[in-house]
Amino acid sequence: MVEIFEHQLSPSSWNRFEECPRKYWLSRQRLPRKASMPASLGNVIHNSMEEICNLDFEGREDSEVGWLSKLMKETIDKHWLMEKEIFLNTPRRPSWKPQSIGKAREGLVGALNLLFSKTKYTGKKFSEISIKDWKEIKSIVLSNEESLVSNDGRLIGRLDLLIDDLDEDGNSKGWIVADLKTGKPPNSTLNEKVTRQLLFYRDLLKETKPNHPHVSAEGWYSSNQKIYSTDGDFVLDDAILAWNEMKLTTKPPESTPSEDACGFCEFKAWCPDWWISRDQGKLSDKNTFRDEVVKIIKFDDFSGAARFERQSPVGSEGKLVSSEISFGALIKGRALIQLKDIISSDYDGPVFLGSVRSQGQIIHLGDWSEILPWSPLLKSIR
Ligand code: SF4
Repeated sequence: MVEIFEHQLSPSSWNRFEECPRKYWLSRQRLPRKASMPASLGNVIHNSMEEICNLDFEGREDSEVGWLSKLMKETIDKHWLMEKEIFLNTPRRPSWKPQSIGKAREGLVGALNLLFSKTKYTGKKFSEISIKDWKEIKSIVLSNEESLVSNDGRLIGRLDLLIDDLDEDGNSKGWIVADLKTGKPPNSTLNEKVTRQLLFYRDLLKETKPNHPHVSAEGWYSSNQKIYSTDGDFVLDDAILAWNEMKLTTKPPESTPSEDACGFCEFKAWCPDWWISRDQGKLSDKNTFRDEVVKIIKFDDFSGAARFERQSPVGSEGKLVSSEISFGALIKGRALIQLKDIISSDYDGPVFLGSVRSQGQIIHLGDWSEILPWSPLLKSIR
């Protein structure tokens, strides 16, 4: 019987841990979840692709055409509404962008074209795909959204697509582990995180299916409809080493602040280290969009105008002192609602301002920003 562990390593948790152990530790503290439009868009495309690949066409006329475009639209529309509800019910979120549904439709077109490119139907119009064609296309999908667990129960993954790799005569020459990517494609080669993830899926699949043929790993980028292959050494030994270090400790592990790791880190309000690094000049404060830790000096809830004073870090535990640097701010949209909520809760400590746009001496906060109480977390709350 497989042992049940208190934590399991997935490709995303492993990547988070490698980026910054503290980010991983914070991700396990059940802090309020944050939604984002790119993540929701990705879910809509993945869920639509999964549903279309799993539909049963038994009993339909083999010659029927014209059904796929209609099905794609209906499926995207359905998952768009489901995702919107989840997004709006997530405690930390920007505004929902209804206009992004066009990108979701394009993403599904891209994903299906990539699947077609592995068959003789490459480049064929969706409106001309018959039920018989689709059954043949679908026959190369050996599994779809399959959950994998290592023999010892420590490693897990959910594989987007396992594809039968056919040669020109239609004979199988192996399997392809394909991960569907809906974000920005790489300039030339896959980055370290995506490579690690793909090799992890490849090796976990091989472990769970010992009678496998040759297995290759590919990232399928829906936005430019390109496939990026990767290859490399066996990674599961490294994954187990990481798993050992990923046990939840009472005290937070050392952080590894960097532009890449901290850039989109959603735990900055709970982590003092990025702010210390900024103060020491190790992280840039020159970006148009930046984060701040401030005290509210003045706020006019009618106009949304405010004055903030930057707080400087002292020591390593998130303590702050006045920096005597102050700046004006114009606040609207969701950021304004958040600031009003904080003020009406009688909290009067420092606040974290996420993603402020600087323009001259003034900063702007809006639907794209976030305002949270400054809450350095120095002990596990689980
Ligand atoms: S803000 Fe930076 S240092 Fe802090 S947890 Fe996130 S990635 Fe790590």
